[in-house]
Amino acid sequence: MPPSPPPAPTAENAPGPPLVEVRDVTQQYGTDGKLFTALKDIGLTIREGELVALVGPSGCGKSTLLRIITGLQKATSGGVLYRGVEMRGVNPHATIVFQTFALFPWLTVQANVEVALKVRGVGPGERTARAEKLLTQVGLAGFESAYPRELSGGMRQKTGFARALAVEPELLCLDEPFSALDVLSAEALRGELMELWTAKSIPTRAILMVTHNIEEAVFMADRIVVMGKGPGRVVTEIPVRLPHPRARKSDEFLRVSDTVYAAIAGQTPAAAPDSAHPAPAVLQPLPDIALGSLNGLIERLFADEADRVDIHILGAELGLDLAALMPLLEAGQILGFLTLAKGDAALTPLGETLAEATIATRQELYSKRLRRLPLIRWMLDLLYLSDEEALPHGAVLEALAEQFPPEEAERQLRRLIAFGRYAGLLDSDDTAQTVRLTEPAAAVPGDPGLASGGGP
Ligand code: ADP
Ligand code: MG
Repeated sequence: MPPSPPPAPTAENAPGPPLVEVRDVTQQYGTDGKLFTALKDIGLTIREGELVALVGPSGCGKSTLLRIITGLQKATSGGVLYRGVEMRGVNPHATIVFQTFALFPWLTVQANVEVALKVRGVGPGERTARAEKLLTQVGLAGFESAYPRELSGGMRQKTGFARALAVEPELLCLDEPFSALDVLSAEALRGELMELWTAKSIPTRAILMVTHNIEEAVFMADRIVVMGKGPGRVVTEIPVRLPHPRARKSDEFLRVSDTVYAAIAGQTPAAAPDSAHPAPAVLQPLPDIALGSLNGLIERLFADEADRVDIHILGAELGLDLAALMPLLEAGQILGFLTLAKGDAALTPLGETLAEATIATRQELYSKRLRRLPLIRWMLDLLYLSDEEALPHGAVLEALAEQFPPEEAERQLRRLIAFGRYAGLLDSDDTAQTVRLTEPAAAVPGDPGLASGGGP
């Protein structure tokens, strides 16, 4: 089925100029040996004034596409234009709300919203006023001083929305924002968002929402983009030209729903759009290694005459069995220092640079690369947002416990400290049991993560 043309402008809701233009985006994952194409030749335009829904089977690359559009991830090939300009790095005008919104457990609702404004350099007085206004808008007036654990799931997600809206994003990206909520909370929050959007009481210019709920897409969107998988691609676009608020039982509503179901069913033999309970986004744990040993491995690879070294030989020479070697290789790969293919390890140009670098340069390289890891970025954001840029170990553990089982949370904290220390990003006072930023510049305001409304 060829993509349908964009919806004809209606007097009521004429889409404006393009805000986002996705051009021939292809995303591959994996290494040379085993490349997997998650997205292939994606083309998509989102215009000002539009609410676009992305639907499609699990694993067709919806979340990947959102990350590419907001600049949290760079596509393997192709590009994204924002207001006609090729995007580089994180788009400061965009925000993502994830399915489960990570709030700071030790901050009140009000402070959780203000945090996003603090990173953007908004002064205390204005922060308070803006946070209060938004909390009222999403229906949380009266809960400003409550803590996340005292709230229902729906109220937590509302707090998340308020935090995302606080920075007044031009482009609001929502990744299954209602799917972790019970039916009533989801319905209420959906209604609240639609009211803010259709009444234009938020400065957001376009919304891009991933959903597995077709009724939700037909209820909210001006256009529904149906994706298929194997590889992830745009199958068709279906305009929804019904006025808001939409009546779910109307013939037209049901007709559009049928069209969307049919388009998705054509893509999935089991006719099953995303399962009702997709796994929540989880932060990659840090590998169990010492960075000093990784240096040893990289030096060894550099010293070898050959470009590629068999990993069994490497292990034997370093006196490491495969169980000890694999996490090192994995870490080297994640950090971009080496690649693995067909049982061989090879240094990347960055790895070669590291091998030859002075101690100071090595630290700088590690600091640059480590900052790209979501868990490290999350830790730096947390510290940056905290008073005096320090936090008790207990508070970090409490936040980590939302992502990892208790023992793993402890391990991850130890690794965060070890890696952060090694790269000169953060330090831990083991007597006072606190972690602090080594230098305030370690976390850059406007970095992805909290600043963009995301979380662990
Ligand atoms: P969706 O959101 O539509 O369920 P995703 O964008 O999360 O799809 O994932 C698309 C495909 O790419 C899936 O097969 C997933 O396993 C894979 N994938 C996603 N992120 C990564 C990654 N960082 N590394 C390797 N594979 C990934
Ligand atoms: Mg997803």
